[in-house]
Amino acid sequence: MSPILSIENLSIHFYTPKGVRKAVDRVSLELNKKEVVGVAGESGSGKSTLALGIMRLIAPPGEIVDGKIFYHGDDILRYSESEFNSKIRWKKIAMIFQGSLNGFTPVFKIGEQIEEVLEVHEYKGDFKERVKELLKMVELDPSVADRYPHELSGGMKQRAFIAMALALNPEILICDEPTTALDVITQAKIINLLKTLKKDLGLSIIFITHDMALLSEISDKLYIMYAGGIMESGNSLDIYKNPKHPYTQLLMEAIADINKDYIKGIPGFMPDLANLPSGCRFSDRCPYAMDICRRKEPELKKIEGDRNVACWLY
Ligand code: SF4
Repeated sequence: MSPILSIENLSIHFYTPKGVRKAVDRVSLELNKKEVVGVAGESGSGKSTLALGIMRLIAPPGEIVDGKIFYHGDDILRYSESEFNSKIRWKKIAMIFQGSLNGFTPVFKIGEQIEEVLEVHEYKGDFKERVKELLKMVELDPSVADRYPHELSGGMKQRAFIAMALALNPEILICDEPTTALDVITQAKIINLLKTLKKDLGLSIIFITHDMALLSEISDKLYIMYAGGIMESGNSLDIYKNPKHPYTQLLMEAIADINKDYIKGIPGFMPDLANLPSGCRFSDRCPYAMDICRRKEPELKKIEGDRNVACWLY
């Protein structure tokens, strides 16, 4: 099966007074139909920039400097902005942005805001009917269309936002930290909703979060990002059972466990993206760092099955 979305060596740089920040550095990723791909890493690892890159929403001082993004085999980075906007953005690839709970305009009703998306993208059917259908799809009562954002709970707002993202029937949904700021019960309900949508609509999902425990609930495949690069990728279950990269191991240890009375943090800080350490970008924080790690950058390479790891230990 060929992937629905295939990213090859994507690099996104930001030109700042401190130098060139390599926010996404030669990242490759594949997403198949009806698959949930998890992208995990601490804040500042480049996950959200990667998502914005896929949506072609990188604004100056940022720029996509290299790489290819294939959607059904077509390199969508070669599309003009108007072509990408009319054919791909929201129609084929939609996104729930980080902080989307505050994304609705407070003075307009939910239904009006979803209708606006339909209007802008020249939806041909009946707007009111489509809004009702979308709200039902995300398990909200159609009467929510007549309510203002402040009248909804956080979970209801997130469902309404998912409805808006699905307005034009996309094939791919990118969810950037969609459950942050929600309580754990509401988080679990949103995860279940996304699983149902994946099954019922045949959606493919890229799920971005710093929360490894959440990803264990939903993702089929995992990509672990650190300081702009992919450190490890492979089948989610395999990575959970047996993380190989020292950074993935530390991320796993940082998961809250009901049997532990403490959460272990990862020592040290993410490096300055304009001034990455030489060699392995994780070497400043890695408990296993060796001499070679500080001299030469390890490439992401296959070590077994579909597992890829960027580390000199393998
Ligand atoms: Fe640690 Fe070296 Fe592996 Fe980097 S390459 S993660 S420093 S052991």
